Amino acid sequence: MTGIIGTWEMSAQGVEKGMALLSGGASAGDAVETAIRDVEENPAFSSVGYGGLPAMDGQVYLDAGWMDGNSLRCGAVVSARGILHPVSLARGLCGRETNWMLAGEGAEAEARQRGLAMRDMRTPEAVEKWKETLHRQCAGMGDRVYRGHDTVCVIARDAKGRMVVGTSTSGLFMKQPGRVGDTPVVGSGFYCDASVGAAAATGLGEDIMRGVLSFACVQYMRSGLSPMEACRSVIRTLQETKDRLGEGQGSFSVIAMDAQGCFGAATSETDFPYVIGQNGSIQVCHAAWDRQ
Ligand code: ASP
Repeated sequence: MTGIIGTWEMSAQGVEKGMALLSGGASAGDAVETAIRDVEENPAFSSVGYGGLPAMDGQVYLDAGWMDGNSLRCGAVVSARGILHPVSLARGLCGRETNWMLAGEGAEAEARQRGLAMRDMRTPEAVEKWKETLHRQCAGMGDRVYRGHDTVCVIARDAKGRMVVGTSTSGLFMKQPGRVGDTPVVGSGFYCDASVGAAAATGLGEDIMRGVLSFACVQYMRSGLSPMEACRSVIRTLQETKDRLGEGQGSFSVIAMDAQGCFGAATSETDFPYVIGQNGSIQVCHAAWDRQ
């Protein structure tokens, strides 16, 4: 059974394109890359790719991750600028023995060498929002650190049973240049083992990394939990840890799919939309924080 799942409503159009590819016999890798590229190149989405909101210094730094569940190899792009489709570079790096995670200038040079599209990722709207926020911060009107700066994560399974996960984000708005979240970090932002399933996370990377959420979710599936139960378990466990430490409600969500094509999702938020594509139609579903 083929299937595809993506985080947030912004992935709907890409998931639809990915699903059409899968129905036509394309690989899980092509479906995931197509779905994520659709979000990366759309300036309407202010948390991924072109149009992503800048860091403190006004630059847009991009993170992306990729894992092939059949070879268990990964690719990742960390804190890179000017690459229109960081997910394509992450995919291109997957399969190497070494040098599969490239940061900053190294990633940018590799993208140029591969002939990938390069561009200034800052839209006028993003620059305007950055200036306004900088002004507010200088005036002492501090904002919350995390403002729901979402990542696009997509998991697909194709007709041959191959599974792939990919992720892409511009990270937190007004982050410190050089800050890296969970998105390009295998195990935290994404994990895929085609014999079991895959998971990917979105939300505050600093918390997601503490829970190593995606690997934990796949391990729960390995031990027999359904994707839905596995997602709920990792979210509940991480929130319980935060409760024990007196840290308040977190902002993190996870999606998953198992090797049979069943889906799962859970969140610590009051609402987390995700999109599933199966049997020729896509559906926007919603998860909500549930202590049970
Ligand atoms: N996880 C991303 C990060 O921490 C942001 C997000 O998904 O909202 O960079």
